[in-house]
Amino acid sequence: MERYSVITEKNPREIVLLRGSGCKWKRCTFCDYHLDSSSSEEENFKLNSEVLSKVTGIYQSLEVINSGSYCELDNKTMNLVLETCIKNNIQKLCFECHFMYKNQAVKVKEFFKNHGISLKIKTGVETFDADYREKKMKKGFGKATPQQIAEYADEVCLLFGLPGQTELSMKNDIETGLKYFERVCINIMNENSTAVAPDYSVVKIFSEKIEPDYRCSNRVDILMDNLEFGVGTKVQEVLK
Ligand code: SF4
Repeated sequence: MERYSVITEKNPREIVLLRGSGCKWKRCTFCDYHLDSSSSEEENFKLNSEVLSKVTGIYQSLEVINSGSYCELDNKTMNLVLETCIKNNIQKLCFECHFMYKNQAVKVKEFFKNHGISLKIKTGVETFDADYREKKMKKGFGKATPQQIAEYADEVCLLFGLPGQTELSMKNDIETGLKYFERVCINIMNENSTAVAPDYSVVKIFSEKIEPDYRCSNRVDILMDNLEFGVGTKVQEVLK
């Protein structure tokens, strides 16, 4: 599995896919990312150390993902993330974090700020339609509004290509994301090991009617394939 990559366009940064104890939520109907986890802190730290040793600071910006939330990384890994940032003059760091950890996210921002590092929190809201989000996706955000989510998160991920989504719903999600957050990352649903399958008629609408309008936006990342950032693997390999 690829765990280190450099993203050169739009928001240039290095990205690392670390491994933690596993997503504590694990209920999102479409997700199997959480399979990339281990209960062994020692093994996780060993792996994470190897991955973090590849960071060079080329763009002074680092995104850390871990198939869950940063809170599920062990303490030694968290310390090593800080050391890696200091050593490589990283000015901007990004962690992913589920809504259930929102209070911790505020504190960790303060912690990194004290070390001169601006920490951005990215959260997988997937859609701002709370009904769809909670009934179909089981995201665990309750009825949280964009404003409430923006109290702890700076960036959002959206998930498109699912049954029932429309041109209007996807546009609304993107525009709401851009209104309340610094950046939006659009993921198109790919086939995976869950029972949720992409709706290719929705993907077609996205590709033809929406993607061209945001292709050049520096605040919008679009991942038609979930390996496009250069990290991760197909689910078949995760399951090995
Ligand atoms: S999408 Fe994120 S929060 Fe939901 S189960 Fe997957 S890793 Fe956990």
